[in-house]
Amino acid sequence: MTGPAPSLPLRLADGRRLERRYRDVLLPDGILCDHAGQARLLPRYFYEIESWDQARDTYLSPHFAVAEFIHTDVREAPPLRVFPRYIPCATALLALALELLRDAAGTYVHIGANGGYCSPRHARVGGASPHCWGTAANIYRIGDTYLDTHEAIARYASIVREVLPTAWTRPLAPEHDRTDDHLHIDLGYVVSVPREAAGETYGAKLAGDPL
Ligand SMILES: [Zn+2]
Repeated sequence: MTGPAPSLPLRLADGRRLERRYRDVLLPDGILCDHAGQARLLPRYFYEIESWDQARDTYLSPHFAVAEFIHTDVREAPPLRVFPRYIPCATALLALALELLRDAAGTYVHIGANGGYCSPRHARVGGASPHCWGTAANIYRIGDTYLDTHEAIARYASIVREVLPTAWTRPLAPEHDRTDDHLHIDLGYVVSVPREAAGETYGAKLAGDPL
């Protein structure tokens, strides 16, 4: 028997069964190479978002709506600039992590444009960016503080290390290089497979009672 379905109102989409134009840009179960040349397996399952209204009204955690993770611009692949839009299921885990950061900071945490989910075909993606897994966020503002100084970025990076010890933050650029305007946080190449996902074809290897 299966238990009650989660209450999230988004359709769970098997990326491998989406239309070709989506498969070509989401690359479900595809491979991206990281900077060390290591292959990383992309997510297969996505939540489907029908409209901005739905994105604004649907929360992945108490304070983070889907809308916060899908602000992209013309650099995103054309099929993903109109609805339905797709986010990897692991985006929900990122939302939980950001909730902890929000608690620790005691105020709003803002994700920048192109700072949530970016598809593997997003123009700014080169190689295996965790943004393609839905597990990375570029935070440009916390409460009234803009993260555009070394001091502000370093302060919040240290809070992240405290409350999210397994998360990764991008090291600061050298002091003279004033290009930092956000704090990048990611959970790594996490792939989330919700229970209601189709899964793989049954094989002898999988025999036995589920735990
Ligand atoms: Zn980033």
